[in-house]
Amino acid sequence: MAGILLEGDHVTDDERAAHARALATKEREKSMSRAAEVKARVGAQKLGKALQFPGTALSDRVVEPGPFSCKLAKGDHLRIIDLEGQQAVDFLVYDAANDENRYNAANTIKINRSVYIGKGFRLISDLGDVLMTIIEDTVGHHDTIGGCCSTEVNYMRYGIKDTPSCRTNFISALRAHGMDPRDIPANINFFMNVPVRPDGSTEIVDGLSEPGDYVDLRAEKDVLVVISNCPQQYNPCSGWNPTPIRVIEWHPQPGR
Ligand SMILES: [Zn+2]
Repeated sequence: MAGILLEGDHVTDDERAAHARALATKEREKSMSRAAEVKARVGAQKLGKALQFPGTALSDRVVEPGPFSCKLAKGDHLRIIDLEGQQAVDFLVYDAANDENRYNAANTIKINRSVYIGKGFRLISDLGDVLMTIIEDTVGHHDTIGGCCSTEVNYMRYGIKDTPSCRTNFISALRAHGMDPRDIPANINFFMNVPVRPDGSTEIVDGLSEPGDYVDLRAEKDVLVVISNCPQQYNPCSGWNPTPIRVIEWHPQPGR
């Protein structure tokens, strides 16, 4: 989106912040009315489909913008539902038996031969293991290169200090598992749209997901999943308006 940042050597923090806040207010209003229209049209049907799976739910939680983590046994599934549409879900996965063996973006891009991921794609670790496979995906296009927003880079881009961020959420979620900021590799952004153009330029643009869209991932090993449901308000990654997601852990055999 052109004009998202006010750039230049002589621009003050206050000017950048005023620009970012004014743009976010205007874009949020447009985004919310578009999302309401799409939800009224397809939301119930999409959510109905998202809540069907051939197995038993192990847990079912609504996750507000913020941190989340869970452990999955090999063979179990994680379904992430974008309840309101255009909501970036920053995602990391670790081998539960060895947290130094974790999602590796470059390996995943190389093995799948794509900077975007979707149905059928495998999430590859540092040591060449398949940690999870994307079994279902109603969007078809998710980001591997945009990384997570941080309080520090939000200040750099928007001139606004102390914003909530995915990096802060990751740190908070990882701490519960005995890890720290050094354990944050480049992450996946489900439902985030970061097109790479033929000339190599790229930026975060409006998301493609609609209310009720989902991804479904199968654990190929025992894994730890760490999520930041993105709290970003100053760019289109979460429709300028961070909203809750629904996270369902399920097992494909009934009665477990
Ligand atoms: Zn974020």
